[in-house]
Amino acid sequence: MDKIIKSIATNGAFRAYVLDCTETVKVAKEKHQTLSSSTVALGRGLIANHILAANQKGTSKVTLKIIGDSSFGHIISVADTQGNVKGYIQNTGVDIKKTATGEVLVGPFMGQGQFVVITDYGMGKPYTSTTPIISGEIGEDFAYYLTESEQTPSAVGLNVLLDDKDEVIVAGGFMLQALPSASDEDIKRYENRIQNMPAVSRLLTSSNHIEALLDAIYGDDDYKRLSEDSLRFYCDCSRERFKLALLSLAKNELTSMKSEDHGAEITCQFCNEHYHFSEEDLEEIINDKTESE
Ligand SMILES: [Zn+2]
Repeated sequence: MDKIIKSIATNGAFRAYVLDCTETVKVAKEKHQTLSSSTVALGRGLIANHILAANQKGTSKVTLKIIGDSSFGHIISVADTQGNVKGYIQNTGVDIKKTATGEVLVGPFMGQGQFVVITDYGMGKPYTSTTPIISGEIGEDFAYYLTESEQTPSAVGLNVLLDDKDEVIVAGGFMLQALPSASDEDIKRYENRIQNMPAVSRLLTSSNHIEALLDAIYGDDDYKRLSEDSLRFYCDCSRERFKLALLSLAKNELTSMKSEDHGAEITCQFCNEHYHFSEEDLEEIINDKTESE
C-alpha cells in the first residue's frame, strides 16, 4: 500500500514528507502503457501532486499541469486530500536511456515551459500559481515552485526505478521544508545534509526506503512522525459521468453521432478507460434530452 508520512524535527525547524508511491506509478504505467522515460516523468508528476494535495486541508483538489514544449508534451494530474491521484502524459512513448549506464532520461525531453498548480478549495474560484520549468527533472521544478511561489525554502527528491524490462520496481520521494523558526545554523546543517545525501534512486533501493529517506533527511537530528496516510491511483470517471457529458451536447450533434458514427466511443484521458455508447444508448439519451426540454 502506498503511503505518505508527515514528520517534524523535534526543535520545530523543519518538516518533511516521505512517500512510497510504487503502486500509484505501477497502475499509471499499466493504464497508459507508457515506455521508460514517459513512465518516470508521469510517475514523478504524480508523486509531486500527492505531496501538493497532502499540503491541503478539507476536501480540496489540486491540478498539476507540467506544460513542456518538448517530447513529453503535457503531464496533467489531479489529486485530492483523500490520497487519490489520477493523471496522464501526452506522449506515452518516450523511451530514451544513457547508453553507458542505462539511466532513463527525463529532463531533456520536458523542454521549456511552466509548472502550473491549480488549487480548488471546493468553494469560490480555484487558485492558480505558476513558475517556470527550470530543469525538466520535475523534482527540481517542484522545489523551485514551493520555494518561489509558496515562499517556503524547500528541497524535493522524487524518483521511479525501473527494471531491465522497464517495469516499475519502486517509486517515491521526499519533500523537506524549513519552518519559520529555523535558525541560519539549522538551515546550513540541513542544506549540507541534503547536498551530501545519497541519490533518492539509491535510497529507494533499500529494503525499507521510508526509513532510509527519514534517516538521510534528519541525520542526527531528532524528529517525530505526525501522521501516516494511504495513497493510490484512482480515477473517478464512470459511464454515468460520460452519459451526463453526452446529455449536455446539442441534439443535432447526438443525432449525427447516432446516424453517421452509429455510436460513440469515449476514452477517459486520465485513466484510459473506454466507454462505448451504442445507437440505442444514444437514442435513449436523445429521448431523455427531449423530455427534459
Ligand atoms: Zn478515468
